[in-house]
Amino acid sequence: MSHFETDAIRIGSSKSNQREHSAPLYLTSSFTFDTAEEARAMFAEEIQGNIYSRYANPNSSELLDKVCAAEGTEDGIATASGMAAMFGSIASLLQQCDHILASRSLFGSTHQLLTRVFPKWGITSTYGDISDIENWEKLIQPNTKMLFIETPSNPGLEIIDLEWVGKFAAAHNLILVVDNCFATPYLQQPAKWGAHIVTHSATKYIDGQGRVLGGLILGKSELIKEVQFFTRHTGPSISPFNAWILAKSMETLAVRMDRHCENALTVARYFQESRDLEFVKYPFLASHPQYNLAKKQMKHGGGIITLNLKGGIERAQRFIDQLQMISVTANLGDSRSIITHPASTTHSKLSEEERAQVGISDGLIRLSVGLEHQEDIIKDVENALEKSR
Ligand SMILES: *Cc1c(COP(=O)(O)O)cnc(C)c1O
Repeated sequence: MSHFETDAIRIGSSKSNQREHSAPLYLTSSFTFDTAEEARAMFAEEIQGNIYSRYANPNSSELLDKVCAAEGTEDGIATASGMAAMFGSIASLLQQCDHILASRSLFGSTHQLLTRVFPKWGITSTYGDISDIENWEKLIQPNTKMLFIETPSNPGLEIIDLEWVGKFAAAHNLILVVDNCFATPYLQQPAKWGAHIVTHSATKYIDGQGRVLGGLILGKSELIKEVQFFTRHTGPSISPFNAWILAKSMETLAVRMDRHCENALTVARYFQESRDLEFVKYPFLASHPQYNLAKKQMKHGGGIITLNLKGGIERAQRFIDQLQMISVTANLGDSRSIITHPASTTHSKLSEEERAQVGISDGLIRLSVGLEHQEDIIKDVENALEKSR
């Protein structure tokens, strides 16, 4: 319709007959029919309408209207968590004996899904390294049906060329799934580059205040129909309350992301000057190996920084323990700045070798830069660096 900011606020259809200005919360498990014939026709999908909140609810529809406009996708499903979205997108579109090619650097639980859950049902995966993307063709098997990637990746901040990967998927007839959690639709729209399915942990930046869990599966109508069939009958639906929160949050996504990115770039530049650092990684720092690519496909660099302090894991832990304001927790994308030590928390279920392959060293720290004043964030970091020396 119009600009991203305007659509995120103005699009959304959940109006009751009470002339409310802000979307109401529909806490109802089912919806009534005027006649038996209407009930029949709705179940037969001859007419559209709400039937039961496991299928759809005005609040999840409102959320989907907004995120589909933001991502430029035709249709979608909202789920109870990001992992329900990752699971649902794969389980609904693949079957026994199918194979997935995935970028190696993936969120910890997505990695568990691919290596330990789906093989139980005969769906197998192979990982490709981003540094070796020219050779991904060799990793394709006759039964490869899906290409699953994350960019920027959690926590490695690896950037994959969406234009390249979109063409690659099309050339090999693969369903391209992109987990767009780190970038959000405000910074990057994978569907534009040919992604068939875009998934989200809405728990992160879309909520943006660390309150609720939620996930999204978005894409072309014909594929989403398959996903809808799966979610309707397996039940990973989002609660109306969480959908209501997330739809409200979409209204402020653009302004929040602008500030997250501005703060993160400032903090990343601060770290770059520090003599305590082995390295700092941020997509919009010229030192990032895929800086030009990040510039090409992302509006700003995002809110996440990774760093390695001199002194390895002991120093990393001393540093974390000396922070006074920044929270030590496993979430990210919150208005509060958050620090996480992936090797001992979010990615601890990976073997040491698996962690090494995705660049998660023992001393690696992930900083989700929040919306506090950048001077206060830097002051906290500076103080903790000094006290941990
Ligand atoms: C957090 C996260 C998920 C999982 O989402 P939940 O809402 O916690 O289930 C998936 N992918 C990425 C990249 C994430 O950061």
